[in-house]
Amino acid sequence: MRILLVEDDSILGNATSVYLRNSGYVVDWVKDGKHADAALHEDVYDVVVLDLGLPNMDGLTILKNLRFRKQGTRVIILTAQDGLDDRIAGLDAGADDYLVKPVKLAELAARLRVQLRREHAVLVSRIEYPPLTLHLKERVVSYRDQPFGLSPRELSLFESLLLRVGKVVSKENLIENISDWDDTLGKNAIEVYMHRLRKKLLSVGVEVRTVRGLGYMLDKLD
Ligand code: CA
Repeated sequence: MRILLVEDDSILGNATSVYLRNSGYVVDWVKDGKHADAALHEDVYDVVVLDLGLPNMDGLTILKNLRFRKQGTRVIILTAQDGLDDRIAGLDAGADDYLVKPVKLAELAARLRVQLRREHAVLVSRIEYPPLTLHLKERVVSYRDQPFGLSPRELSLFESLLLRVGKVVSKENLIENISDWDDTLGKNAIEVYMHRLRKKLLSVGVEVRTVRGLGYMLDKLD
C-alpha cells in the first residue's frame, strides 16, 4: 500500500512517516505543494494524506487538480482546529475524509485503513489463502491461528500478490509497491525478497509462480 504524505512541518511529517512505515505502509513524504502536485501526476498512490497550508501550492489546489484529472485517489486532508471553512472547502473539492490537527497517529492509521478498504473494495477485514490468512487491519499473516513471521517487505510483497490473486504482478509493480523514494529497490533486491518470501510460503505449501519475463503470481484457489 503506497501513501503520499504531504506535510511541510518537519516534525509532524517525520513522526507521521516513521509511524506509517512501521505500520507496514510504503510512504513518500513531500513538503512542497508543487512537488506533491507533480508526484500525483506521475505516481499511483492508494491514499494521499494532505495538509492544506503548504509552500508553493496549497493543498486545496492540489486536491482540485487531482479531481480535475479524474484521478480517484483517496484523499484525507489535515486541517487546523478552527478550520471549519477549510474542512467544508476540502470535502466540497473531493476529499474523502479529514483529520483535525494535532493529528493522533493511531487515529490517522485507523482512517487510512478505512480508505484502503474502500479503495480495494475489500469489505472484509481479512483475506484467506489457505492455510494462510492476511489480516488487513493488523497487517499480519497467520498460519492456523498462529502468527506467521514475515518481515514488513515480505508482507508487502505477499499482500501485493494476494490482492491480485490469479493475475501476474510485474517486478516493476512490486518494486513500486514496496519501495519508498528515498529507498528505491532494484530488481535484484526484489529477487532477494521474493526468494525469502517464497521459501517461507513453501514451508506451508503455498507456491508463488514465476511467469517468465512477466512477473509473479499466486494462483486462484478453487
Ligand atoms: Ca502546513
